[in-house]
Amino acid sequence: PAVVVAIDGPSGTGKSSTSKAVAARLGLAYLDTGAQYRAITWWMLHHGVDVADPAAVAAAAATPDVVSGTDPQAPTITVDGTDVAAPIRGPEVTGAVSAVSAVPAVRERITELQRSIAAEATAGIVVEGRDIGTTVLPDADLKIFLTASEEVRAARRSGEIGRRGAEGVATTRADLARRDAADSSRAVSPLAQAGDATEVDTSHLTLDQVVDCVVTLVED
Ligand code: C5P
Repeated sequence: PAVVVAIDGPSGTGKSSTSKAVAARLGLAYLDTGAQYRAITWWMLHHGVDVADPAAVAAAAATPDVVSGTDPQAPTITVDGTDVAAPIRGPEVTGAVSAVSAVPAVRERITELQRSIAAEATAGIVVEGRDIGTTVLPDADLKIFLTASEEVRAARRSGEIGRRGAEGVATTRADLARRDAADSSRAVSPLAQAGDATEVDTSHLTLDQVVDCVVTLVED
């Protein structure tokens, strides 16, 4: 039977790098659920939807067609056929995504999409996000919850987005803290560790060490 791996945790813990590498090593599909929430957020901003108005976001939630390519070596994300892989990483989307993803109609739509992608992955799949082990795929074969200290997460994310210097890292740290607080406190499927998840603190581990650890857990 196909193996389903759920990898959750806050921003900057290495979820994406780890999930892609684990999927590639094990020949599994890969789904970045944060990219789906970012893509729907990009669409709302692009179409002038007031992202601070949950009713407006809910009314538009069913319209955008979000499609994820699940090859871990070359994942893709489109909305209504437009490749949004680059713009969804920009500051506008990053600043608005927590508000959009807190709207229940958005979560229902994206959760349904995630479950159908997982069901179609005949060889199995690694799904990364915030609520995969708790809500989206509660029957996953393996659940991992990645953590790391705030300092390490801010330094990693600053490196990824090319923000330099102590001031840059401090800005990133504040952004991460704000987003994690919003994601952890929303009413519907907040960022949370499933009771049966294995916690892996990545603060003092290299990417290879984290990947080895998760692959070993899958194979056991
Ligand atoms: O993982 P990433 O940082 O790209 O996720 C972007 C945002 O998408 C998160 O801050 C969160 O608001 C939302 N998200 C979510 N549920 C998930 C994955 C991401 O609400 N499963």
